[in-house]
Amino acid sequence: MFCKTVSGLGSDLLELLYPVCCLVCGDRLPDKRYLCSYCLNYAFEPADSGNYESSPGLVLPDRITMQMALWEFDKGGYLQDVLHHLKYSGLAELGLALGRELGYAVQNNRWMDVGDQTVLLPVPLHASRQRKRGYNQSALIASGIAAVTGAEPVDDKVLVRVKNTRTQTGLPAGVRRENISGAFQMNRSEPFAGRDVLIVDDVITTGATVMELSSLIENIAGRVGIATIARA
Ligand SMILES: [Zn+2]
Repeated sequence: MFCKTVSGLGSDLLELLYPVCCLVCGDRLPDKRYLCSYCLNYAFEPADSGNYESSPGLVLPDRITMQMALWEFDKGGYLQDVLHHLKYSGLAELGLALGRELGYAVQNNRWMDVGDQTVLLPVPLHASRQRKRGYNQSALIASGIAAVTGAEPVDDKVLVRVKNTRTQTGLPAGVRRENISGAFQMNRSEPFAGRDVLIVDDVITTGATVMELSSLIENIAGRVGIATIARA
């Protein structure tokens, strides 16, 4: 069966002709989630996450209270494929579905109480990249988290990316830090004032991006946490 995995084939007729299927097992799905519940539960390796100290290879500063990821990144595997679709295929419902899963994971944990007092900060994309892609995948994930926890995504004008960095993929840690340094600009600080902030991204690798972001808000916010779909 030919399944619909590319947006833009948006008409109802095409939806009928090309049903939505699970990106992993190919089973036909009743709605646009792109992952069946079996694959959501069993296809990927759960990340051993929580307190950042339990994440080997990640060096995060003390101000980060929580670092939580759903799954371990699998180079060349199904999760990499799913995350590629999330970034480049315009599957908004996939981002929301993954965000909801992450929302259940960050709720009621012992490190940071994520709820309606929490501000969600999706890692901003540079305006030119967002125009090209049509959306920010991290903002989709944040919307999913918001739907589950009641946390509030910050307006995307509050903190923006001013430097259109090249992709961090494949760069060593030192180069990543240099690449991302000065990449963000905070236009307004009051949405973060005294509130717990959860930084949201699709993948965390060395932590350079979230460290750069948290350095802007650390003196304003309450606790700062990180939630990602995958940890590389
Ligand atoms: Zn499946």
